[in-house]
Amino acid sequence: MDMTFGASLASSTWRFQGDVQKATLIGISNLPVVTGVKIEDAQGRLVLALGNIYDGDGKQIHVDDNGVRSPVATGFLNAATGHRFPILYRDEHNLIHDIGSWTVYSSRHVVVKKVAYGFTLILINSIIKTLVLWFIFLYVFQRWLGTPITKLSSFVREQDLNRLDTQQSIALPGNKQHELHFLADAINAMLASLRKHMGQNRALYDELQQEKESLRALNKSLELRIAERTHDLAQANDQLKLLSLTDALTGIPNRRCFDQNLDQEWRRCARNGTPLTVALFDVDWFKNYNDKYGHIAGDEVLRRVASTLQQTVGRAGDTVARYGGEEFALIAPDTDGESGLGLVHKMRNAIFSLDMPHALSDFGRITVSVGVASCMPSQHNGDLNMLLQAADAALYRAKLAGRNQVLVAE
Ligand code: GH3
Ligand code: MG
Ligand code: MG
Repeated sequence: MDMTFGASLASSTWRFQGDVQKATLIGISNLPVVTGVKIEDAQGRLVLALGNIYDGDGKQIHVDDNGVRSPVATGFLNAATGHRFPILYRDEHNLIHDIGSWTVYSSRHVVVKKVAYGFTLILINSIIKTLVLWFIFLYVFQRWLGTPITKLSSFVREQDLNRLDTQQSIALPGNKQHELHFLADAINAMLASLRKHMGQNRALYDELQQEKESLRALNKSLELRIAERTHDLAQANDQLKLLSLTDALTGIPNRRCFDQNLDQEWRRCARNGTPLTVALFDVDWFKNYNDKYGHIAGDEVLRRVASTLQQTVGRAGDTVARYGGEEFALIAPDTDGESGLGLVHKMRNAIFSLDMPHALSDFGRITVSVGVASCMPSQHNGDLNMLLQAADAALYRAKLAGRNQVLVAE
């Protein structure tokens, strides 16, 4: 301010040009920050003033354009603050004369207004800049990031890896290679690799399916073969079982089968409270027969005796078995001594009737001696051996008594 107005004030004061001074003061007081201005002479006396100033007594007063003074209400915002400049005049001899001073005033009110104004300007400025920056940022973000990312994500979402025929890939606009282009390249590479692996997996899967089918077929044929084998085995087993219970020479039940059946029938008769009859048959003078006619003829005799005995028994529950070398046995369940004896007589007669020549026999033919024993198994506490021994003893007695006869156990 001193550089602007100082020279004019110095010159007008030196020359006592009151109009110029006043015009200068009006100019100064028109400045927005200025609330008052005054000029004092070298002795500190007020020469000219305009606006709110402090007079010589330190009181704040208002001086209008006509020089009329009025008091100013005191208050925080009205309190004036001033800056004093000396009025220095340099004459033609280059001498400097201190001819007074001028003081320019402003008030807190102005300062606050100025600060508020400045702050408002800064605020508006900042808001505008922020908005502009924000829109630029949004534009750039949308242009360089948002759109490509949306494109990438919808591309990835649309991918159907099961459709290997489509060789789709994504290309982002622009030839600048920034990170999103790298990402797109990576996605393309990944898709290509995934498609390749999916293709391989599909081929592998098809191969596995074929393997599975052939395995299933193999399994089926194996199952069939196993079923066949199982059936064969079961048949072989049945046959073995039959063989193990059948006498090889005569084809009738063997001793093992006899033992099993006797045990079974004994227990059944014991349960049912029914009688059981057993008989032991022995071919008479058979050693002699072998000696005379030979073993092969002897075997044939055994076969005929066996089948005749078997054919003579009437009931399915009766068992005729080969008991030993030339010995046979009968099990007749639910048969008492009397009926059993009748049956055994029939059997002996049947052998006799075969009329197989035996020159070394007293009867001239093949005959049998028989021992019969009957009992109620329910009353014998399970000892079937005693029954067999009784039959054997009766057989022995029949042999002693002359053979070709049936004797009942005592
Ligand atoms: P007995 O009247 O006292 O019974 O006289 P036996 O000669 O019949 O009695 P013995 O016990 O002395 O002889 C039984 C004979 O039966 C001896 C044996 O050679 C014969 N024999 C046993 N098993 C077979 C066989 O499977 N085939 C043949 N051919 N003979 C057999
Ligand atoms: Mg014998
Ligand atoms: Mg004999």
